[in-house]
Amino acid sequence: MTAVAATVSAHKDELTELDAAIGDADHGANLQRGFTAVTAALSGGFEPETVGQLLTKVGMTLISSVGGASGPLFGSAFRAMGKQLATPEADADQLALALRAGLDSVRALGAAAAGDKTMVDALTPAVKAFDDAVAAGLGLVVAARAAADAADEGARATVPMQARKGRASYLGERSIGHQDPGATSTALIFAALAETTARAR
Ligand code: ADP
Ligand code: MG
Repeated sequence: MTAVAATVSAHKDELTELDAAIGDADHGANLQRGFTAVTAALSGGFEPETVGQLLTKVGMTLISSVGGASGPLFGSAFRAMGKQLATPEADADQLALALRAGLDSVRALGAAAAGDKTMVDALTPAVKAFDDAVAAGLGLVVAARAAADAADEGARATVPMQARKGRASYLGERSIGHQDPGATSTALIFAALAETTARAR
């Protein structure tokens, strides 16, 4: 979460510029506010006993601190992941199940399908790549790197799409030619996971 907060902060302007093109120019600010609140919530004497308690706290904090569409969506993903991980530590198999639950939760809440030019277009290939790597016995570090690469590719693939969900959908065909902000921040979150797991090894 520390790494996510740092990368969101470092890419705040880029996320805002992407949202300026097809939204309302607040995605960078929204996520920075959210993850600053997450950092504060996790530092003030909060001592979770399970991975799930930590992720649930992250989700609740995002929901309560981010006004935009992305706050409830990312928040529900972290909460859904939290529900899966009622143990002090999580291995790659558990994390794969949790990520799947996170994706399901975003899809249930936002009703976006693949190709609608949303965070789902980064999250879906990332979860699949993570699953595939874990199923092949490649372990957490490789799985997280595969997920990050797939998320990045998924985010880039949103450029030629026409938005069918969220604010960008109001632009119709004019949303074509721009990378989706939420897919981009999703890729940043997976990149932070990959870097952190590689370093912790
Ligand atoms: P807002 O659109 O309220 O200003 P943000 O700018 O923080 O919120 O987030 C916009 C991002 O949220 C979009 O780029 C998209 O990825 C994501 N998003 C919006 N609506 C949906 C939805 N229904 N399902 C999935 N993701 C969505
Ligand atoms: Mg916005």
